[in-house]
Amino acid sequence: MPDLDAFRAETAAWLEAHAPQAIRGLLINPEGGGNWGGRRASFDPSEMKDWLEMCVERGWTAPSWPREYGGGGLSPAEAKILAEELRRLKLPAPLTGFGLTMIGPTLLRFGNEEQKREHIPRIVRGEIRWCQGYSEPDAGSDLASLQTRARTDGDHFVVSGTKVWTSYGDLSDWIFALVRTDPEAKKQEGISFLLIDMETPGVSVRPIKLISGKSPFCETRFDDVRVPIRNVLGGINGGWTVAKALLGHERNMIADVFGSFSGGRPKRPGSVLANLAREYLDGDGGALPDPVLRDEIAACEMDDRAFQLTIQRSRDAARAGHQPGAESSLFKVYATELNKRRTELAVRIAGPQGLGWEGAGFDEEELTRTRHWLRARGNSIEGGTSEIQLNIIAKRVLGLPD
Ligand SMILES: Cc1cc2nc3c(=O)[nH]c(=O)nc-3n(C[C@H](O)[C@H](O)[C@H](O)COP(=O)(O)OP(=O)(O)OC[C@H]3O[C@@H](n4cnc5c(N)ncnc54)[C@H](O)[C@@H]3O)c2cc1C
Repeated sequence: MPDLDAFRAETAAWLEAHAPQAIRGLLINPEGGGNWGGRRASFDPSEMKDWLEMCVERGWTAPSWPREYGGGGLSPAEAKILAEELRRLKLPAPLTGFGLTMIGPTLLRFGNEEQKREHIPRIVRGEIRWCQGYSEPDAGSDLASLQTRARTDGDHFVVSGTKVWTSYGDLSDWIFALVRTDPEAKKQEGISFLLIDMETPGVSVRPIKLISGKSPFCETRFDDVRVPIRNVLGGINGGWTVAKALLGHERNMIADVFGSFSGGRPKRPGSVLANLAREYLDGDGGALPDPVLRDEIAACEMDDRAFQLTIQRSRDAARAGHQPGAESSLFKVYATELNKRRTELAVRIAGPQGLGWEGAGFDEEELTRTRHWLRARGNSIEGGTSEIQLNIIAKRVLGLPD
């Protein structure tokens, strides 16, 4: 594969020469860390802005998306090499967010040409930040029961209703929302998938606090919001198919983000959990004396490595254009349950120091660890609960009867 070898060498040389020093080795917190772009984008450190701009120019924020919409047009093998080189140099993704991980791939599959040309380049350049308007007070697991209404008025819909748990709704510019366009039809058949600019009059957002102390999500209200009918993705009343396809991308993204996060900044090479145990339980750096704990750490590490190999296969398939199916439920449930186990074990190892909320008795890392543990509780709820994923796996993967 001389072409690929040349591509790797060229990519590595470019990254070595151009990636800002300040961002090398930067650990990105999955809870909102990194560049999310948008009209009110913030960059921490400020060199992340330069990093974003230089990657946008090369199409490297969406390496395998078509060039005509601002992507890199790389083959799956080239995109994989780029990802490997970024990892090798410990460089953070230039851009992240629901535009790239959820609505972008969905637009590429279901959008008409006008919609793709309007939205994909703005996602790729990080100009617009997206959020997801699926859940409602009475429609979570039973999503198809959603009640947000959209009635037609000329060439517009008029949207009314309330969405809950809208992650980053207060920071986002556009929302992709499921709305009921035919209240008479069977519930799945009366739903449309609508793209809404959140600056439209009548959209309001109120943050809701999480158990971890942060407020990454919101209640989003629509009071007679006028949305052009041309913003429907997948046809009027055709939203359920689009919604399910997007959930496949969302579940893979959650598995990828939370399944791959070690839950702490490694102070030295090797297992984060084993190092933590050495730090809190055994100062001399030898083998851990508690065999049960050793066993638990080893099991967690082995499951983690096996999962990393599996998710790597799923990333390769996605680069090759594979549309996620029911198997995304497997990834989602496994990764999030693993993250819960891992964060819980970390807190147990740290003992009383693992339960810090604030105050001088705890260092920054300890406080972060507590919050990661609490945040992980939401992992098995967001994107569809673990019970719902198990139902999908039983029915659609294993073919078990209802
Ligand atoms: C951190 C976080 C971020 C989120 N971000 C977003 C977002 O950006 N946009 C958005 O639209 N939504 C978001 N959500 C909402 C999320 O999708 C819903 O919370 C989820 O789908 C569950 O719905 P619910 O909360 O109404 O729980 P319910 O559906 O009321 O479920 C309650 C319990 O009953 C169980 N249950 C329900 N039905 C069944 C069944 N058929 N079989 C077995 N058990 C069942 C569930 O597993 C759960 O344990 C987020 C949630 C969290 C925690």
